[in-house]
Amino acid sequence: MKKISFLLVLGLLLNACAGGKKLISADKALIKANIDLVNVNEDKVLVSVDPGAFSEQTVYFYIPKTVPGTYSTDNYGKYIESFKAFDYKGKELSTSKIDDNTWEISNGASLDKVSYFVNDTYDSESTIGDPVFSPSGTNILKGRNFMLNLHGFVGYFKNLTEVPYEISINHPENLVATTSLNKINETKTSKSLDTFLASRYFQVTDNPILYAPADIVSFEVNGITVNLSVYSPNKTYTAASLKDRMYKMMAAQKSFLGAINSTKEYNIILYLSEGEDDAGGYGALEHHTSTVVVLPEFMDRGRLEQAMVDVVSHEFFHIVTPLSVHSEEVQFFDFNDPKMSMHLWMYEGTTEYFANIFQIQQGLINEEEFYQRIMDKINNSKRYDDTMSFTEMSKHILEDGFKDNYANVYEKGTLINMALDITLRDLSNGEKSVLWLLKELSKKYGDSTPFKDDLFIDEVVAMTYPEIGEFFETHVIGDTPIDYEIYLQKVGLVIGTKEEESGFFLKGEVPYIDVDPQNDNAIFIRKGVILNSFFENLGAKAGDVIKSIDGALINLESMRSVIGQSFSWPSTKKIIMVVDRAGERLTLQGEVGKPTVQSKVIKPVANPTKSQLDLLHIWTKG
Ligand SMILES: [Zn+2]
Repeated sequence: MKKISFLLVLGLLLNACAGGKKLISADKALIKANIDLVNVNEDKVLVSVDPGAFSEQTVYFYIPKTVPGTYSTDNYGKYIESFKAFDYKGKELSTSKIDDNTWEISNGASLDKVSYFVNDTYDSESTIGDPVFSPSGTNILKGRNFMLNLHGFVGYFKNLTEVPYEISINHPENLVATTSLNKINETKTSKSLDTFLASRYFQVTDNPILYAPADIVSFEVNGITVNLSVYSPNKTYTAASLKDRMYKMMAAQKSFLGAINSTKEYNIILYLSEGEDDAGGYGALEHHTSTVVVLPEFMDRGRLEQAMVDVVSHEFFHIVTPLSVHSEEVQFFDFNDPKMSMHLWMYEGTTEYFANIFQIQQGLINEEEFYQRIMDKINNSKRYDDTMSFTEMSKHILEDGFKDNYANVYEKGTLINMALDITLRDLSNGEKSVLWLLKELSKKYGDSTPFKDDLFIDEVVAMTYPEIGEFFETHVIGDTPIDYEIYLQKVGLVIGTKEEESGFFLKGEVPYIDVDPQNDNAIFIRKGVILNSFFENLGAKAGDVIKSIDGALINLESMRSVIGQSFSWPSTKKIIMVVDRAGERLTLQGEVGKPTVQSKVIKPVANPTKSQLDLLHIWTKG
């Protein structure tokens, strides 16, 4: 997955059972699920799930607690209401709810099917606890849009995750499905019933379906058919208008990867949010043959296209890992009691590294932009615990004390791979790289053969050099922060500073301040960013909570207006800012001046050696 944060910028249709079916025992029978998107009441959708015959007295039904790729506990069962179980005569059986995601059904031998209503996760009024990450969430907007991340709709019975599922969906005629799931009634004439087949429960969860008014374009990229499906509620964007940039990007990805994957079809499902349905945030989630992307509809075209390039390329690279190269924890994923792998440095780190290095190697961005991205990752990584073992963090990523560091997989995770890549190129005369390593690993493992989690790093070392083993021991398993300058030096780069112009409260679009929803939306000065001369000269410090500016109390709304006014402040303007610093109230005052900031930049060394230039060339040009 890839989460993007846009910093504040103050910005019952019960299926009749076929008679003969009851003779088939549950472990052999197809599970039939029905989802009714036509008769939607109060934003709720009725679902029924009809298994074969059970011999057990007690049967358990589950909705996932978590799904692969999100690395968070989301309890999709919290969105289920009015759970009922029926016997073959249509009489209700007694059931009890064991926890958020588990139902126990007694008298299992006479169980015909279960049914329940599903609430969506996108609407803020139905948000229960922490919001679900939007790209893995669900949307129910009667007659207009349905985002079916199927793990939110269709559950599974204990010990029956490996049987096939037939999912029939009644839908409004004006909405069409975009999905990689296998459709089995293609030739039938019904415009309001789709039937899909999944070979096992994992496939149900791996294939989201978007129902929306048709806005789909298809294009071919070196043997892959890519479908781009767009839901833009205000018709701000169309699939056709985004196609060229996506084509160019995916062609570059295929050219970077070479002959590494064999996907024949890939669906990009883009949901553009109007802003009221985005509590779960923006970003995307990977699947084997599709991705769901959620971004704000109000973004201007330039930023939206760049976000699509960064996010979709990241998700597509997930085809390499963890969708291909992964451990047993991922292969035998337990949707209600997941064991986590220790290799997020690869699943997310390598993926995000590829999503950046391919852009420079394929000429989508230039050197300066690439160095800026690396510098941003170095700066951002300092906001997290740099002395936390990455393998430990991965293993415990669902737990308190670790989960707040999750987003560092995109920052330090990328940098770990950068250091590995430069080291591999250096030790192998340019021949070996992280991409080479992943290609070798995917030849060895691939889609259906997992590796052993605790033996994996030894294996990578055996394929490469002892120095790689030392690196892992010290910086990935170990807790020693990486000195990135050592690696940059090898390619003739160095970190220097540059004085840049800045706004008072923002540098470009990046704010110096943030809002703390845990503390009554207090406005505070961000930590881990280099403050501009305006804040420095006033004596403000990271973490200060701004209470008032020039006598006006500061809240989210008044802060927006101060930011608006600040664009026309003369440098001679005097300001009085009252802040709270660790419980102490301080009055800071002075002239606002003309704000500048000392930014760190990665730049070439003065006199690079030939070997530095050669290594830089192979690293950035492939
Ligand atoms: Zn990811």
